[in-house]
Amino acid sequence: MSETQLGALAAELNARLSPLAAEDRLTALRAALPGKIVFTTSLGIEDQAIAHMIAQAGLDIAFATLDTGRLFPEAYDVWAQTEELYGIKIEPFYPKGEAAEVLVARQGVNGFRYSVDARKACCAVRKVEPLGRALAGAQGWVAGLRADQSEHRGALDVAAFDAERGLVKLNPIFDWTRGRVVDYVERHAIPVNALHAKGFLSIGCATCTRATLPGEPERAGRWWWEQEDKKECGLHVSPDGQLVRAGAAGAA
Ligand code: SF4
Repeated sequence: MSETQLGALAAELNARLSPLAAEDRLTALRAALPGKIVFTTSLGIEDQAIAHMIAQAGLDIAFATLDTGRLFPEAYDVWAQTEELYGIKIEPFYPKGEAAEVLVARQGVNGFRYSVDARKACCAVRKVEPLGRALAGAQGWVAGLRADQSEHRGALDVAAFDAERGLVKLNPIFDWTRGRVVDYVERHAIPVNALHAKGFLSIGCATCTRATLPGEPERAGRWWWEQEDKKECGLHVSPDGQLVRAGAAGAA
């Protein structure tokens, strides 16, 4: 499909899929798109729920994850458990070795603590560039974002055309609360990262994630030394820092 067609499809899906159950949103995306669809999982609780939905329905959607090299050991445990339970392969995408070496030589092994720009440079090497390879050739991208995770994500849509990457992006649980996600994984006995039970609501790299305190926002434990409105790693925003939206410029 051309980018114009994908843009029109994203707009149509956004209108049509909102009233559907999350499982049906995934099935409808697969039915509507002839090309490759990739689900990028962070192995967090939202993505574990989506992995279950895709695996149970047997949908032809590829699983991919970004191994930044700085993940918690618990992330590798749930990765292995998930592959074993569902009989799937989650394809890993690693930072390019030379780029990581240059980054660490330039800013130090934990240089991301020194400034937002340094942190974004680390995320660019360890996450954003590998994401580009994970999505290469795909026409559809499934992600586990929820609108109530942060103010920045509040305007999220179920489907949008990602003009930067030229694909349809689906957020099948965009309208779920965290409580609903927890209920879902418990009801279906879905394996989750053991850190969730220790106060880690949103889990990224070990060096950049801490447990949240009672009453703190859900993503307060991510890059906790930065201001709340800076907390995106570049995976889900356009180059100007805006969330990919259904009605954004570039969407047909
Ligand atoms: Fe680097 Fe932290 Fe971003 Fe991970 S979350 S890629 S360690 S800055």
